[in-house]
Amino acid sequence: MYTIRSLDLHFQKEANTIASFLVSDQNHHVLVETGPESTWPQLVHQLQRHHLRPEDIDAVLLTHIHFDHAGAAWKLAEAGARIYVHPLGLPHLANPEKLWQSAARIYGKDNMQALWGSMEPIESTNLIASSDMEAVLLGKMTFVPVHTPGHAIHHVAWKLDDNLFTGDVAGVKIHSGPVVPPCPPPDIDLEDWKDSIAKIRALEPDRLYLTHYGTVSDISNHFQELERAMDEWAAWMKIRFDDGTAPEVITKDFMAYTEKQLIDQGVGKHLRECYELANPSWMSVSGLLRYWKLKQSRK
Ligand SMILES: [Zn+2]
Repeated sequence: MYTIRSLDLHFQKEANTIASFLVSDQNHHVLVETGPESTWPQLVHQLQRHHLRPEDIDAVLLTHIHFDHAGAAWKLAEAGARIYVHPLGLPHLANPEKLWQSAARIYGKDNMQALWGSMEPIESTNLIASSDMEAVLLGKMTFVPVHTPGHAIHHVAWKLDDNLFTGDVAGVKIHSGPVVPPCPPPDIDLEDWKDSIAKIRALEPDRLYLTHYGTVSDISNHFQELERAMDEWAAWMKIRFDDGTAPEVITKDFMAYTEKQLIDQGVGKHLRECYELANPSWMSVSGLLRYWKLKQSRK
């Protein structure tokens, strides 16, 4: 048998914002998600609590290559772990320069170090591309990569028996707060995302492990809530996209709109701050505007 443990990476010193999951059987230790490099000391500390060092991790399963999920993968590769990732994400880990530059355009060059730390290339010998539904046997554990585009084109959810590690495809839900869809640029595609949700539902997992944050067992309601939120956000954005509202105005209004949604659902100030750390609302503006723009150009 194996154990699954949630490791709280205390992103920006805040609990319950970014998780990594440690899955172990007698001889094998697997991490699903690494968090960013900026939380590396916390990851090492959490591993220590389970009497492990980074060198003891055999494999890392990434859901996608965004920094909050994969930023520290290179450190684990240096310590000897094999890194499993979607074929479309793999080249960016081997050569992260472009990924870093595009993130710097979103977050601002001067904020990158404090938010994400650093990112170095991973040797190609440590990188393994995971094909859709092709099982990966690690020790006695069989992980199945489920390609689930929508949040990112290179997104993978990892299935282990009845458990599913969902990265961002199942959205963000912290404590008793609502489910919200993280919509950063450049890949947001709501049709693909809903297809991915249908694919997950058909697999009938018993439990979801959300990177932001924790376990969900009421799966049907969870996805219903996620799809509803997606539709609401997309419709809100479509109106502003169509009438050509200036992006700065949209961003300010969207932040107020999403904050009010949280307040209306009884989310207190501190939990709202956690949501904003796990899923900055301003970031979803450019993601959703780009979605509508691409959709229009395909017509
Ligand atoms: Zn994320």
